[in-house]
Amino acid sequence: MARLKTLPPRIAKAPERSLAQVNPSSWRSGKTTAQRGYGGKWQRERLRYLTANPLCRYCEAEGRVVEATVVDHIIPHRGDQKLFWNRKNWQPLCKPCHDSVKRAEELGGG
Ligand SMILES: [Zn+2]
Repeated sequence: MARLKTLPPRIAKAPERSLAQVNPSSWRSGKTTAQRGYGGKWQRERLRYLTANPLCRYCEAEGRVVEATVVDHIIPHRGDQKLFWNRKNWQPLCKPCHDSVKRAEELGGG
């Protein structure tokens, strides 16, 4: 869980009990794509980002050249608009890498 150590203090200080009780993906349940921030603006911004950052970062680190198709949030934003739009928190990934990362995070409880 080294990833957790990169969380900003204000998030790290969030009450652990409430975080543990809430389903990690509950913030997105029952909401439309646009309501949780993936609206037209996001579609434009992710396209622009992928144009500037066309290669999967994880594959690139392993010496593979794979087209990135997903903009991943390095720190899971969980609906936090500041984290969501912070480009320093973005990374280009291919779908398989993105899915494996997200699956690990969701199983591990983030
Ligand atoms: Zn990849």
